[in-house]
Amino acid sequence: MNAQDSIKLQTGDALIVVDMQNDFLPGGSLAVAYGDEVVPVLSRYIHAFKENGLPIFATRDWHPSNHCSFKAQGGPWPPHCIRSTKGAEFAAGLQLPEDAVIISKATSQEPDAYSGFDGTELHDRLQILGINRLFTGGLATDYCVLSTVKDALSLGYGVYLLEDAIRAVNVHPDDGKKAEEEMIRLGAKTIKVEHIA
Ligand SMILES: [Zn+2]
Repeated sequence: MNAQDSIKLQTGDALIVVDMQNDFLPGGSLAVAYGDEVVPVLSRYIHAFKENGLPIFATRDWHPSNHCSFKAQGGPWPPHCIRSTKGAEFAAGLQLPEDAVIISKATSQEPDAYSGFDGTELHDRLQILGINRLFTGGLATDYCVLSTVKDALSLGYGVYLLEDAIRAVNVHPDDGKKAEEEMIRLGAKTIKVEHIA
């Protein structure tokens, strides 16, 4: 799609907000730089979907305190998003409606799950609702957004990547850029909030 074209939301569309949790925001234990900048942008998408009566999903890491992805267990990350802690809560400014569907992932000690589809009921819930296009943003571009988008594409969904509502970890400086390029190469289209009609 040409980035200047507008997109009309329609029946069959759903919004997927990926891992907008305190531990991934500045001040959190696994902070994504500038991750807080996407909170108000995602809230604008949320309002657009709500206005159109379209479903909103929010994924979250929901780890036990001894999760396999934590360094103490030999994993790559500091402890983060331990279930029922402040760090696992959604960003305070994120205006999720009460009827948003929350999808918890990586809820047992192992394995880890970057994708919102991995070990969850997300695909089933989307199928029941007849969803065929997913609008996906959140944190982080180069991990959970990338994995969620790749799974969505391979499951046959059309995917719009919210390019103004993602931020990357960038363990290597270009990781986020490369992840965006990979998602586009695999078939994702990009959109900015002002292009929602
Ligand atoms: Zn995690």
